[in-house]
Amino acid sequence: MNTSALRRRVALQRARFLRLVLPILLLVAAVGSGCVSTGTNPISGNTRAYGYSWEQEVKLGTEADQQIQQQYGVYDNEELSAYVEKVGQEILAESHMRRPSTPEKFRNTEFHFRVLDSPIINAFALPGGYCYVTRGLLAHLNNEAQLAVVLGHEIGHVAGRHASKQAAKQQIMQGVLMGGAVAGQVAFGGNVAENVMGLGGTAAQLLSLSYSRDNERESDRLGVEYATMAGYDAAEGAEFFTSLKRKSEQSGQSLPTWQSTHPDPGQREDTIIKLAQEWDQQVEGEQTARNQDAYYAVIDQIILGQDPRQGFVENEVFYHPDLKFRFPVPSGWQVQNETSQVAMIQPDQEAYVVFRISQADTPTAAAEEFAGQEGLTVVERGQESVNGRSAYRVLGEGKTQQGGTVRVLAYFISYDGRVYVFQGMATAQQYATYRPALERPMTGFDELVDRQRLDVQPTRITIRPASRAAAFRTFVDESLLPDGITPNDLAIINQVELEGTVEQGRPLKLPQ
Ligand SMILES: [Zn+2]
Repeated sequence: MNTSALRRRVALQRARFLRLVLPILLLVAAVGSGCVSTGTNPISGNTRAYGYSWEQEVKLGTEADQQIQQQYGVYDNEELSAYVEKVGQEILAESHMRRPSTPEKFRNTEFHFRVLDSPIINAFALPGGYCYVTRGLLAHLNNEAQLAVVLGHEIGHVAGRHASKQAAKQQIMQGVLMGGAVAGQVAFGGNVAENVMGLGGTAAQLLSLSYSRDNERESDRLGVEYATMAGYDAAEGAEFFTSLKRKSEQSGQSLPTWQSTHPDPGQREDTIIKLAQEWDQQVEGEQTARNQDAYYAVIDQIILGQDPRQGFVENEVFYHPDLKFRFPVPSGWQVQNETSQVAMIQPDQEAYVVFRISQADTPTAAAEEFAGQEGLTVVERGQESVNGRSAYRVLGEGKTQQGGTVRVLAYFISYDGRVYVFQGMATAQQYATYRPALERPMTGFDELVDRQRLDVQPTRITIRPASRAAAFRTFVDESLLPDGITPNDLAIINQVELEGTVEQGRPLKLPQ
């Protein structure tokens, strides 16, 4: 959980979230039949079918951007944010979105480039001018030219109106626009782990529109074109795809979106180099900028891996140093610590608990809003005390889309000026079996007083030149690596082989 994101979230629309029994909105995509409109492509100037008008794309992008910022959290580093925005705007200036022949409505659309606080390697764009890179991706880049190609690629998706093209194909537009209307239903079944990932509404649907390979190839081409025109050595972009390839070859690694929805990174290395050579011939002037020093100056001290200050699990206890609380996790359950919620999932996905902050002022008020939801029948309710703190407990029942019955157990606990919410869910038949596990975190919620855990700090990257020519491995102090980051991961971050020799003086990204 990310504290600043939570605070921001409170200020945002309350109603949308309070209407939800659980943050399950992915089901919305199936609703409604398509409605396709004809529009102009900013790249080719041709007219074709799109799922949305450009104005709708901008509106949807703006709405989904709020959800993305809440869900992932924006990385707290103004200098780095300003730098990414600056490079993004430079690339944008060379794109089809800003050419004199492009219709005014495209030229006037503002673009935004954001750094998200996630260790996952990812970059993506939303329709209407919103581009994102994660801090995990930034740690993997070695210079500004590589960033330029990545941002150019994302601008390409927006300019190519790829999401809108896909929406026209999948005919989900009405589902998106009606998203709010279906919120408030209880859903259960299907892939619970996916459902509780928590990305709600428009953002989830826009991101679920995976691009076609042709879209990706077009974006790769545009990324190289725009970066070259801005004076960058776009062939550098290939280095990043090499890193992606190595990452995907590691066994047991879950595939970040960037990889799973994009063409084989191996092929792309070659394609990017070829494209860069072609564009180099076509564009006047020097295309040699790499700007490694400038890049390293802004990513020095970037967080490596997970940030334990936003919560971590140790021996089946979840600790949150920033918010100063702890609670036990049901034994053997999987924990997903998202920006705005923590989800605990039974291994067979038969039950789960979601934990988050309520926007209500008191446990009673929060409980009333919860109990008053359409489709929910209250079975039991009453005041409670959780480790001496005032709390309210509600047991409710609701119907699933498939016609089954689920039980939802909720605790609303007052602590440190906030109301914390636990919502646990299992089918009515299995509720008795899972009740002890569901109650475990709820009744075990308590203040975190342990100094060592309160003071935990994330591991950061520091940039240091290699003191001698030697194998990269010899520069890695394994005791400094955070959980989940191996020496080989660090080699990939540095775009070197673990056993490969690095020359003296080469700047290395090392854990501090
Ligand atoms: Zn892409």
